[in-house]
Amino acid sequence: MSIRENVEKLRREIDLAAEKAGRDPREVMLCAATKMNDAEAVREAIRAGVDCCGENRVQELTAKSAQDAYRGRPVHFIGHLQTNKVRQVVGKVDLIQSVDRVGLLEALEKEAARQGICQEILLEVNIGGEESKSGFTTAEVQEVAANFAVYPHLKVVGLMAIPPISTFPGENSQFFSEMRNLFVDIREKKYDNVTMVHLSMGMSDDFADAIACGSTMVRVGTAIFGPRNYHQA
Ligand SMILES: *Cc1c(COP(=O)(O)O)cnc(C)c1O
Repeated sequence: MSIRENVEKLRREIDLAAEKAGRDPREVMLCAATKMNDAEAVREAIRAGVDCCGENRVQELTAKSAQDAYRGRPVHFIGHLQTNKVRQVVGKVDLIQSVDRVGLLEALEKEAARQGICQEILLEVNIGGEESKSGFTTAEVQEVAANFAVYPHLKVVGLMAIPPISTFPGENSQFFSEMRNLFVDIREKKYDNVTMVHLSMGMSDDFADAIACGSTMVRVGTAIFGPRNYHQA
């Protein structure tokens, strides 16, 4: 199947999942997770109608930006970001989804201030409490949001989560629901510099469950581009 056919199939599945949940399908953005796919594949996904692109690695972001691969769509950073690389990301992407620790917030604030801009971000929550994953706990995320006025050059526009790898449908629904509750809870508190617009959760294997639980943005790689060849890179 071509990238175009994959995106069209995915859209139908996204629409169906939204309708089943009594939601408007237009509430769900499709973010193409473009890691390990080249500029031409990214352009094809954009032509097929994905809403935005998500890049994991700074090096790939820089290389594909230089090739103007994301033209016409917002680009997001969705991978683990080292503090010594913030300069290559702040002001170069529309949204940094994967802000997972206070040290990174401090580095981002400093760089955004230096550039004189306001950078939009999502707070990443380690909702499965996995040792191997980064992200704030739910308690930490509440605390960070409540005190976000200390980062005047950053703006929180939502939450992001990568739950454990699921092996059967519904396995992560509890985590997705917890994310939704957290999202609503923080939204209602109306903290300074915090607006809850995006709830980024759901990937190739579990996006339908994530949509059923309130996701407003699914990040999909494999179901658009096919399996990644990690040996090649
Ligand atoms: C790779 C990746 C995805 C997409 O994963 P698939 O299972 O290929 O759909 C989503 N989010 C993040 C942060 C990723 O790194």
